[in-house]
Amino acid sequence: MNNSDSINLNENFLEQIIKNDLSNGLDNTDLRFRFPPEPNGFLHIGHAKSICLNFGFGKTFSAPVNLRFDDTNPEKESTEFIDAIKKDITWLGFQWDSECYASDYFDQLYDWAVMLIKKGKAYVDSQSQEEISEQRGVPTSSGKKSPHRDREVIENLDLFEKMKKGHFKPGDCVLRAKIDMSSPNMHMRDPVLYRIINTSHHRTNDKWKIYPTYDWAHGQSDYIEQISHSFCTLEFEVHRELYDWFLQNIYDEGKLLPKQREFARLNLSYTIMSKRKLSELVESGLVSGWDDPRMPTISGLRRRGVPASAIIAFCEKVGVSKRENIIDFALLDFCTREILNKISYRLMVVLDPVELIIENYENDKSENLVAENNPEDESYGNREITFSKKLFIEREDFKEEANRKFFRLTLGKEVRLKNAYIIKGERVEKDAEGNISKIYCSYDPKSKSGSGSPESLRKVKGTIHWVDKNNYENISVNIYDKLFNSESPDDDKENDFKDSLNENSLKTFNNACAEKNINNVEFDKYYQFQRKGYFKLDSKKSDKIFNRTVTLRDNKKF
Ligand code: ATP
Ligand code: MG
Repeated sequence: MNNSDSINLNENFLEQIIKNDLSNGLDNTDLRFRFPPEPNGFLHIGHAKSICLNFGFGKTFSAPVNLRFDDTNPEKESTEFIDAIKKDITWLGFQWDSECYASDYFDQLYDWAVMLIKKGKAYVDSQSQEEISEQRGVPTSSGKKSPHRDREVIENLDLFEKMKKGHFKPGDCVLRAKIDMSSPNMHMRDPVLYRIINTSHHRTNDKWKIYPTYDWAHGQSDYIEQISHSFCTLEFEVHRELYDWFLQNIYDEGKLLPKQREFARLNLSYTIMSKRKLSELVESGLVSGWDDPRMPTISGLRRRGVPASAIIAFCEKVGVSKRENIIDFALLDFCTREILNKISYRLMVVLDPVELIIENYENDKSENLVAENNPEDESYGNREITFSKKLFIEREDFKEEANRKFFRLTLGKEVRLKNAYIIKGERVEKDAEGNISKIYCSYDPKSKSGSGSPESLRKVKGTIHWVDKNNYENISVNIYDKLFNSESPDDDKENDFKDSLNENSLKTFNNACAEKNINNVEFDKYYQFQRKGYFKLDSKKSDKIFNRTVTLRDNKKF
């Protein structure tokens, strides 16, 4: 499936910026976009928005899109994350033009830093991080200049070279740009370009003892790749002045200067988007991994059974704006249901079984009934299911005494068994603790679904699903609820975000009974367990474990 054919985040303000640039003389062939993840975690649904945006523009304007790993901090990054990110983007249906790494530009970035030193625009500061932060001051009054700000060029060059060669320990010194300690924009107050990190890098190994900061690497990487439009989230708006200052100082006549523009990040209710926090959940074992089906990661959503096309449809609906807001997670569920309804194979599975005995059905009889695989699409065909005297139904689908609003099975009332007959509850048998162990009923032999008889067309109040006790398979089913109880766990600054984890976010049914056709399910197909929701075979386990993707319906409309 190539979803990129259908990307449409509406005509948004960023698209307008590109179009204006084109009408002001930018050549169409100069358009180039990028998606720049830091490989310090798995991608989440927020990244999907940025992926759809950038790859969507690539599609709209027939322009290349680079995948650039922003790998400037070896302490947190790994090839495991790089592989996971590539897998997720591919699964979403996108193809990058070039696979790039900020670490491939380390030599060039170093040379530019030397150039800045030579121009008197960068210096080595030998103060501690705390001293530097303190001197930056507050936006309303000027910061304090570092005592090392006026070091001679020659001394700076010597010290910077020593930093590179590993003569110093982390924290001993940093390289700073010499800009303006009284700028109202704090990012312009002599920002750090390089810090000493004594960690081996997953690509450059032990070559470097110093690593560029995000600010120093990002814009220059865009420039090296000749990215025309660099789109990022709003928190980088205040970095833009610095981004432009760096570019002005390094750029060659005739080369294209990338343009950074910002959009609001995606926030989703009842979950978190910070990679640092997601990583904390993984590392503390509070979830089973980055691809735990409760995680807002692309891999978690995939494992849960959300199709890529639902994630794309969701991103399209959310659109792009300049204002931060929190999107209701029910919108993602809505998009998921819309697609799953069309592509899911139907099966009957009883999660919490209780035995049902049809007293007037012949003892050893078994019949084959026909059921539709997908009422939305005839091309999915039919399947056979067996029916006999003893069945399983859902425990919650029976009540001895029920009010008028209970449209399931009760004593003395009729319901239809899905794809089969109309039955009437007669009596129950209970165990020593008083729990119902067997339900006895009678059936109307003429009411068989699809037989065309007048009785088969008879309307009864409810329909319930069932599984033949003589012909079933045991499976396990995971039912998920939201991961957090709080609507915006990220925003609570007083309490630990983990305090609002929902303790009941996973409930497992280990004795679910499924019709035998469950043996034919495939990993890359989607299923509806009738009346129970949409389900996906878990991709991690070899046993028959199913994850519920989403319930069948919600009252919310979008
Ligand atoms: P985090 O703060 O969770 O670590 P990040 O922004 O540092 O996220 P990156 O890997 O640097 O993560 O992000 C890659 C790209 O995805 C960036 O361009 C970033 O702006 C964008 N992005 C990250 N989170 C979101 C989000 N919630 N909504 C939209 N875009 C996002
Ligand atoms: Mg980032």
